[in-house]
Amino acid sequence: MLDEILQHNQQFVKNQRPPQIASAPRKHTAIVTCMDCRLVRMFEDALGLERGDVLELRTAGATISEPEREHQQNDLIRSIAGGVYLLGVREVLVIGHTECGLTKINPISLSASMQALGVDPQRLIEQEGLGSIEKLMQWMGAFHDVHLNVQEVVEVIRKSPYLPRIPVHGLVIDINTGELTVVDRDTRAA
Ligand SMILES: [Zn+2]
Repeated sequence: MLDEILQHNQQFVKNQRPPQIASAPRKHTAIVTCMDCRLVRMFEDALGLERGDVLELRTAGATISEPEREHQQNDLIRSIAGGVYLLGVREVLVIGHTECGLTKINPISLSASMQALGVDPQRLIEQEGLGSIEKLMQWMGAFHDVHLNVQEVVEVIRKSPYLPRIPVHGLVIDINTGELTVVDRDTRAA
């Protein structure tokens, strides 16, 4: 894949000259979404986003895993803080999606997949003091209900002592049609 990318890149650089634009997002917005490959390009099209409009923060599941929620020391909060304090972000959208892979993790297939790649899940659980395969799934950010997960992530961001009081909304995008559903529109006064 690397060679394929490098080859394409040579052509791109030869043929395209993207305009130089500022690094601060034009729409003063940060959007948290999932790393799902089906969102590539479709996500921006469905939301009407152009290069330079918003910060896009992608994590597996558009989530913050449970162990990381408690201490607020997670990378998502750090990135949003950078957006707010360094790049003028004043609004945050958390957008989960239907059919998210993190709703489909089960302990048996996770164990099998790890073992097939030479990682012993049982040894890892002991070594890291996790206690059980469920805790390992929690570490990965597994959840059952995308709407509920979006709501929880919105709450974690709203309550973060590292962030000022700015609107944080929650939505879900249909991975097949691109349709957005609002889960929580932030009506708190800024
Ligand atoms: Zn996903």
